[in-house]
Amino acid sequence: MEISPFVLGLPKVELHLHIEGTLEPELKFELAKRNGIKLPFDTPEQVRASYGFDDLPSFLDAYYDGMNVLLTSDDFYDLAMAYFRKVAPQNLRYVEIFFDPQAHTSRGVSLDTVITGLRRAQVEAEQQFGISSALIMCFLRDFQAEYAMATLLESLPYKPWILGVGLDSDENGNPPSKFAAVFARARAEGYLLTMHCDVDIPGSIDNIASVITEIGVARIDHGTNIVENPGLVKVIAERGIGLTSCPISNTWVSDGSKVELVKQLVEQGVKVTLNSDDPAYFGGYIAENFQRVADEGKVSDQFLAQLALNAVDISWAPAVLKAQLRGEIDEYVAKA
Ligand SMILES: [Zn+2]
Repeated sequence: MEISPFVLGLPKVELHLHIEGTLEPELKFELAKRNGIKLPFDTPEQVRASYGFDDLPSFLDAYYDGMNVLLTSDDFYDLAMAYFRKVAPQNLRYVEIFFDPQAHTSRGVSLDTVITGLRRAQVEAEQQFGISSALIMCFLRDFQAEYAMATLLESLPYKPWILGVGLDSDENGNPPSKFAAVFARARAEGYLLTMHCDVDIPGSIDNIASVITEIGVARIDHGTNIVENPGLVKVIAERGIGLTSCPISNTWVSDGSKVELVKQLVEQGVKVTLNSDDPAYFGGYIAENFQRVADEGKVSDQFLAQLALNAVDISWAPAVLKAQLRGEIDEYVAKA
């Protein structure tokens, strides 16, 4: 995919990025070698060729399988640094990074190992690339709520490093209400709240209504099925609850990128943002996702800049940083 100069240089903010989903096959091999793990593939190309997802569960199988090479704090540091190195030339300025502690603690890797590795990379990325970042801890919704609660309590000593909590993995049969108590406690502990409402899941609208009214999230990850209910669209537009949409990811797990829905929702006053989700698996980082919308949606540069500004608005960055990022985008557009 050819990235236009405007898209490449546009200052960007990413709010829906699973750090485990940035594990490229080359790094997977490097870490496997370092940790003495035998992969069921001979080359990175073979790994890539095996990514034939056509729905969320088939993606999740590959996603969790890939994580087995992540064992030490250095592994998590290398994982995150590889991501920062990829997106620095795409002018990513700020990112709120999802991580899945239970995908690691469930196989014997401690939360401390995960979080200290990620944290070290965040500090270094700020110095080396000028990219600011924060962490959002996600619970795996296909596990029991008790395990999520235990993970939440275990995270409390690391609270200064964690901005909020999210909910991801297989939504089918695992509605938001299952985690109502966990999220209530997270809120009481000072964490900000978001949850995945994946695209085209059975009962999606009910789950979207639930995350807004019952859980009280500050934003929704994916969530574009909300167009099916104009009343709910009005509610999130009024309350400034934004959506983190992931166009290229959508093409793998549903029937298209949903670019038209992004356009419709923006027209209706919803703060929609563009994000890469699991870029190593879906084959596109933040700039590729902007370019996908530009190409398929035939939208103006101003529209793309609006999406970048939406991400600043609904981000959980400090006010000073938000003002700085808005200034960078405005200045970029004025000069373009
Ligand atoms: Zn996601």
